[in-house]
Amino acid sequence: MNLDKIGPVRLGGFAIDVVDNSEQLRDRGLMGFMSTLDMRLEVRVDDTSDQVAAQTLVHEALHAIDEVYLEGDHLSEAQVMSISHGLFQLIVDNPGFIRAIWEATNQCESE
Ligand SMILES: [Zn+2]
Repeated sequence: MNLDKIGPVRLGGFAIDVVDNSEQLRDRGLMGFMSTLDMRLEVRVDDTSDQVAAQTLVHEALHAIDEVYLEGDHLSEAQVMSISHGLFQLIVDNPGFIRAIWEATNQCESE
């Protein structure tokens, strides 16, 4: 999976870099990691399928949402796993749904 096209994830006034950190993540036995100190979303893309890397992106982005919007009342890892799987399915299986939201919000910005 090519992460170069993604650019920083903008969330709550933060710009969160999305980076390939495959070597360190592999050594730590992780697929991804949301570094809150650096506001950096790390993903392993070396020996994983694009689908797994994409699902990891959604998972780590949810950790970022948790960090930015749920101050002091964080989700458990099990909650992040469940919600991120649901979000991933929503995005993958419903392009019309995502497109409609994208178009509606872009229309609002130009008004
Ligand atoms: Zn996690």
